[in-house]
Amino acid sequence: MSIKTANLGFPRIGSHRELKFALESYWAGKSDATALLDTAKKLRADNWKLQQQKGIAIIPSNDFSLYDHVLDLAAMVGAIPAAHGWKSGPVDLDTYFAMARGSTGASHHGDCGHAHHGHGVPALEMTKWFDTNYHYMVPELRRDQPFTLTANKPLEAFLEAKALGIHTRPVILGPVTFLKLAKSTEAGFDTVELLDWLLPVYARVFAELRAAGADWVQVDEPCLVLDLSDRERAALSQTYRALGEVVPDLKIMLAGYFGDMGDNLPVALQLPVAGLHADLVRGPLQIEALRKKAPDGLVLSLGLIDGRNIWRADLDAILKRIVPVVAQFGEDRLQIAPSCSLLHVPIDLDLETGLDGELKTWLAFATQKLDELAVLGRGSIGAVEEIAAASRAIASRAASARVHDPRVQDRIGSIDAAMKGRKSAFARRKAIQDDKLQLPLFPTTTIGSFPQTPEVRKSRAAYAKGAISGADYETFLRGETESAIRWQEAIGLDVLVHGEFERNDMVQYFGEQLSGFAFTAHAWVQSYGSRYVRPPIIFGDVSRPKPMTVEWWRYAQSLTEKPVKGMLTGPVTILNWSFVRDDLSRADVSRQIALAIRDEVIDLEKAGAAMIQIDEAALREGLPLRKADWKVYLDWAVESFHLCSTGVADETQIHTHMCYSEFNQIIDAIAAMDADVISIETSRSKMELLDAFLSYKYPNEIGPGVYDIHSPRVPDVEEMTELLTLARERLADGQLWINPDCGLKTRKWEEVRPALVNMVSAARLLRSAATTRA
Ligand code: GLN
Ligand code: ZN
Repeated sequence: MSIKTANLGFPRIGSHRELKFALESYWAGKSDATALLDTAKKLRADNWKLQQQKGIAIIPSNDFSLYDHVLDLAAMVGAIPAAHGWKSGPVDLDTYFAMARGSTGASHHGDCGHAHHGHGVPALEMTKWFDTNYHYMVPELRRDQPFTLTANKPLEAFLEAKALGIHTRPVILGPVTFLKLAKSTEAGFDTVELLDWLLPVYARVFAELRAAGADWVQVDEPCLVLDLSDRERAALSQTYRALGEVVPDLKIMLAGYFGDMGDNLPVALQLPVAGLHADLVRGPLQIEALRKKAPDGLVLSLGLIDGRNIWRADLDAILKRIVPVVAQFGEDRLQIAPSCSLLHVPIDLDLETGLDGELKTWLAFATQKLDELAVLGRGSIGAVEEIAAASRAIASRAASARVHDPRVQDRIGSIDAAMKGRKSAFARRKAIQDDKLQLPLFPTTTIGSFPQTPEVRKSRAAYAKGAISGADYETFLRGETESAIRWQEAIGLDVLVHGEFERNDMVQYFGEQLSGFAFTAHAWVQSYGSRYVRPPIIFGDVSRPKPMTVEWWRYAQSLTEKPVKGMLTGPVTILNWSFVRDDLSRADVSRQIALAIRDEVIDLEKAGAAMIQIDEAALREGLPLRKADWKVYLDWAVESFHLCSTGVADETQIHTHMCYSEFNQIIDAIAAMDADVISIETSRSKMELLDAFLSYKYPNEIGPGVYDIHSPRVPDVEEMTELLTLARERLADGQLWINPDCGLKTRKWEEVRPALVNMVSAARLLRSAATTRA
C-alpha cells in the first residue's frame, strides 16, 4: 500500500521566530522592506524544502502570511476600509500593516484577544479563528463593497516554489468562509450576499494559477463545520458550481476542518469539486459517511494526523483504520493529511533539548508530523520499524506512572454533590459577607495585575538566567508588591490586590507549580501577527503538590488592614490555553485542575483571605463551534468552577473575572457559576453588555469595567461616572462594584495611576449621591 501524502499548511513563524523578529524590526524602522521580504522568502523556501525532504507528495503554497491569511485575502480582493486611502493596484506593505495594527502602529493587546485602536486609521478587529487560539483580522465589508484582484498572491507563491523546482498545491481561503467571517459595516445586510461580486476575483486567481501550471488548488472552507444557514449552504453550491465551470481543469480540494461537517457533509459531497478533505481527528465518524456517500471519482483527503495537538500519532491504529478505505476506493483516490493546517502546532520537537527523553517520545510537532505522514504514506510494510516505534511510545505513555496518578483518579471518583454548590444560597451568603466585610456602597477594586514594567521583566529574566539569586529576586518582588499595596491604600481603593508581579503569565505561573504539566523552550505557536505563545502541555493527571499563591497573598495582606483578594486562574482557562492530553476527556482534565485549584482556594481561606478571585478569562472562548455542543461544555465548565470554588465558608467571598462580554447566549451558565462577584469588560460597549444581566435579572454582584485597559487613554471622572450611571439603570446599587475592564499588566504606571485615582473619585461621587447599600 502506498498513499499520497498531502500537507494543508505549515507554520509561518520560523523555528527560531525569524518572522517575528523581522516584522518587529521593520515596524520599529530598524530594517527596510527588503530585509523583511527576504526573511519571509527564505522561510517559505525552507518550509517547502523541508516538506520535500520529508517526502510529502503534495506541498502547499500560499499558506505563508506576513501577518494573517484572512487579512491577506481581504487585501487581495481589495476589501480595504476607505480610511486607508487605497485606490487600486497592489496593496503596499504599510497599508497592509495599517489594516492589521492601525496606522499609528499601536499594537494589539494580548490576553483578551482585542485589537485596540490608535489615533490614525484604526486596525481591523481581531477575533478567534474558529476554536483555535489563533486570531484573524476581521474583514470589513460594505453593502456595496467592490472586489477586485489587487495582486494574485497564490500565484506569486506558486511561482516562487516552482522556481525552486517544487510543484505545489496553492491554498486559498474559500469565499464562503471569508464572507461569513467578515463583518458588515452596515446593519441589515448579510456579507454572504456579496458572493456574486467576489466570485469573479476567485475565478481570475484560479485561471491564472491554471495557466501557470497548477493542477490542484486547496480551498479551505472551515465554515463547513459550523452551523450554516440555508443561504450559506446555497452559497457553497453556487461557489463551487461557478468555479468549476469557469476553470474546469483546475482541480479543487475542498477542505472542511476543525470538526465534523455533520449536516453539511451531504452538501459538501454534492459540490462539483475534485476532492474533499475531512478532519477525521475531530470528526472520526465522517469516514463512514464518506464511505457510503462519496460520489464516484471524488478524491478523499483523510485528515488523520492531529493538526491541533502535539501528541505522537498511533500510526498502527491509523493504518488499521484506513485499510478498508483503501480497499474500497483504491490508492489513487486517497490522500493522507493532517486534520488541518499545522499552523496551530509548534515547529520542531528536536529543539526541545530541555524536555526529558521519555516525554519527548510521546510528542510530535509540525516537523515530526510530516514524518508521521510520510510513514503512513509508505504503509504497514514500508515502514515497519517506524510504526513499531510509534506503538512503543503510545504504550509507554498509556502505562506511565507520570501520566496516571491513582490518587487523582480517586479524588475525581469521590466528587460529591456537596462539592458542586456553595453551602448556602447567594442571598444568605451576601448577608453574611456584607456583615463581615463592611464595604462601602460601590466598592472599588482592580482585576489583579499591575504594570509589568521593564524593571519587573528585567529582574525576572535575570533570575531565570541565574544572574541574580532567588533571594534577590524575591526581595525585588516584595518591594514591588509593597509599593503597590501602599499606593492602593493611599488612593483609597477598597479591595486591594497584590499585583501579580511574580507571575510570568496567568496560566504558566500555575502550570509550573502543578503536577502533570510540561513547558517548552521554543514551542511557539502564532496567536496573532507577531505575537506567539508557548502553551503548556498537560500530559498527566493534575495535582497540586503544595500551595502556590498563599505566601504572596499572606505577605500582601500583612501590609494592610484593607482586604487583599486571593488571585487564581480558573481550571477552564488553564485548560483552554494549554495543549491538553488526548487520552482523557477535556471535561475530566478540567475537573482535575479544578480540584487542584480547590485546594488552593481552601488554603487561601485558611490563611485568612476573605475574598478569592478565580479568573475564567477563557471560559467563553472554549465554546464549541456548534450550538448543539454548547450545553455539554458549559455544564462541565460550570461544574469545574463549582469544584474549585465551593470548598469555602459562606462568609468567604468568591470573585470571578471574564475579560469579554457578550454574555447574552451564556448568561444561564454565568449565573449558574454562582460567583459572589463577577467583574467583566464593558467600558467600550458603553455598558450595553449589561443588558444580558438585566433581562436575566442576574442576582449576584457585578463589577462592569469602567476603564478600557486596552487603550493607553486615561478616562476622566465624568466619563466613568457616566458609564456608572448607565450601569445603575440596569443593576441595583447594592450589586455594583467599580473596577477596570481587565488586569493592568500591559499598561504603564503613568496611565494606571491617574485612571484609578479617577475611578475612586467617580465611586465617591456616586456614593454621595446614593445613600444605602440596597
Ligand atoms: N488577574 C488577571 C490580571 O489581572 C486577569 C487577566 C485576564 O483576565 N486576562 O492580569
Ligand atoms: Zn480580563
